[in-house]
Amino acid sequence: MARRRSRLQVLVIRAVVNCAGTNYVGNYYEATTGLFTKYYYAGNQRVAWRVNGTLYFGFSDHLSSTSITVDVNGTIVGNELYNAWGGERYTWGSINTTFKYTGQRQEEAGLYFYNARWYDPQIGRFIQPDSIIPDPGNPLAWDRYAYGYNNPVNSIDPSGHIACDANNGLEECRSITASDYIEALRSVYRWSVIGNWTSQAAGELIDTAAYIDHAISSVTNGNGRGWMYKNLRGATIINNDKSSRILSILDFFRKGPGTTPGFVPNRVNERNNIYINRTGQSRGTYIHELGHVADNNSNNVSSCAATWCGGGAADDLASFIGIDPSGIRWAHDISVDLPENYRWEYSVDQGYGNTTSSEYFAQAFKYTMMDQSQLPNSSVYNWMVLYFNR
Ligand SMILES: [Zn+2]
Repeated sequence: MARRRSRLQVLVIRAVVNCAGTNYVGNYYEATTGLFTKYYYAGNQRVAWRVNGTLYFGFSDHLSSTSITVDVNGTIVGNELYNAWGGERYTWGSINTTFKYTGQRQEEAGLYFYNARWYDPQIGRFIQPDSIIPDPGNPLAWDRYAYGYNNPVNSIDPSGHIACDANNGLEECRSITASDYIEALRSVYRWSVIGNWTSQAAGELIDTAAYIDHAISSVTNGNGRGWMYKNLRGATIINNDKSSRILSILDFFRKGPGTTPGFVPNRVNERNNIYINRTGQSRGTYIHELGHVADNNSNNVSSCAATWCGGGAADDLASFIGIDPSGIRWAHDISVDLPENYRWEYSVDQGYGNTTSSEYFAQAFKYTMMDQSQLPNSSVYNWMVLYFNR
């Protein structure tokens, strides 16, 4: 049995490494010094949370801002009202959550993270320009720092890209097209996105990019975007239409044993093309595949991608663990040599990371960002943080 740490222990370890204050695992856990919060959802609705074991229920205003928190007895423990731009208007007690104005998370500096951008309620503005001009006919849309078309009373902006009228539900938000997102992915993150994409699938992809940006920023003193430009350069995400299936099959014949003909997995080639086998992958799948891109780009031999020729970050991680990195990644089974306390649990994607050094690295890349408690042990997390700071 691999030695496992509890989720809290891993978070505490991360806090020590990070020294940056609050640590998050998606929208589900937060840890600060002395406070550990777990959130509960019903569908997309955040309904309750537990702070150091004490359960609270939250109630929202018409903009989904957390307004009232009650304890299990129904006693109000906190009430917070916001001015039209999200600044605090009235505070009583404590609402016991960092999810505040329009249900977005407020970081310690008082800024809100709107999935794609940071919003400052003191000035009623985003602190980064929007990458998308959502509605060219509306002059307010050209002010790329404006929040909610300067009409925050009725507007919310959950994507950070487009204002929608809270009184009309979220229908307006859905009018943003796949090509808007694809253009933003190109201009903001320098990724190419090819093939047929739905607005929802392309939106999930840009959310994934923003998530990676945020996750790496949190351990590199804000260098997420710069890290992505260097290490995820050339990433091309190709929806698996007919041509990418054919390419994948051709690749199989070039590559030989180790893959199954007929089955077209999500995969990355040496040119950093990511072929996905259906529209709308999970965030975790995208991040795993992008881990292979980062590995490829870390190779010292520029003429040959690391997955094929070795010499990149996955080799370094393998050496750290004490196993032979040995060149051609996909052909070298590491599972026989992997020390017990560095083995992936079978419960984590069927132990997928135990197969080759490149898969080990891609899984470590994914779970460092998404859920450190799933990593084989904390030293893998610590290694990844050092790697992100290289
Ligand atoms: Zn993989």
